[in-house]
Amino acid sequence: MFRAKKVFPGVTHISDAMGVSMTLIEGTERAILFDTGYGTENVKDFVQTLTGKPVSVLLSHGHHDHILGVRWFGKSSMCSEDLDEFRLRTGSLQRTKVAKQAEQKCVPIPEDFMSVIFTEPEAIIFEDFSGRFEQKTEDLGQMHIQVIHVPGHTPGSIVLYLKELRLLLTGDDWNPCTWIWFPSSLPVHRWRENMKELIHTLEKEHGQEILYVLCSHQPKVRDAKELKAFLEYMDDERLESAPAVDMGVPIETHEIRKEPEGWTLLFDKGKK
Ligand SMILES: [Zn+2]
Repeated sequence: MFRAKKVFPGVTHISDAMGVSMTLIEGTERAILFDTGYGTENVKDFVQTLTGKPVSVLLSHGHHDHILGVRWFGKSSMCSEDLDEFRLRTGSLQRTKVAKQAEQKCVPIPEDFMSVIFTEPEAIIFEDFSGRFEQKTEDLGQMHIQVIHVPGHTPGSIVLYLKELRLLLTGDDWNPCTWIWFPSSLPVHRWRENMKELIHTLEKEHGQEILYVLCSHQPKVRDAKELKAFLEYMDDERLESAPAVDMGVPIETHEIRKEPEGWTLLFDKGKK
């Protein structure tokens, strides 16, 4: 079952039964769904209960928990640098793992979950640059979205900035528990510098501070100050002394955890 909450005018944050979030952004003319969840439920039908406007699908990156719901739409778009990840994560090995997770969570899956054929997303064509980042702007009608390519969690990760609301949607490039340990993730220093540079670039461009953040693994709106404090906390000294954790894979994963907030960064210390 989906849960949806209108967090700003024109912005509805939706969680699926598996616990991942996606966001419907609506202007006066059309709408964009940013990510599609695990695909265990018909997200297209659900979104149509929220808006009568045409909806296009934009993917934050190529991981299964954000892309498997594309099946209900057919068409989608994403950064070309994550297309390999999309192919891998819609493959049978990954789908088998998701089906097992769904069973453990007592979430029913569609009969054709293993056999349904995915249409490959179209590659986003970025038109210009925002500082060092490729970007394009989508005008939904009185709602402008900057679609910005910010490599980090994956090479093709994109974030969205809604200037009217001073709201940043980070996808998996930042969550209060951020994972930068995947084989395709950037080295942790580069991820951190990209995120800091992104904030600096947007605040300079618009002449005002970012106020809010929506993440892909959190149902609630975060204060942008939390994101900034998180990035400052993950300094070189802490990265160097972070203890190792066993993620069950042969990757040199280390963890920084900050209490009382519970902020966590998991990263591959071996990747330079
Ligand atoms: Zn991810």
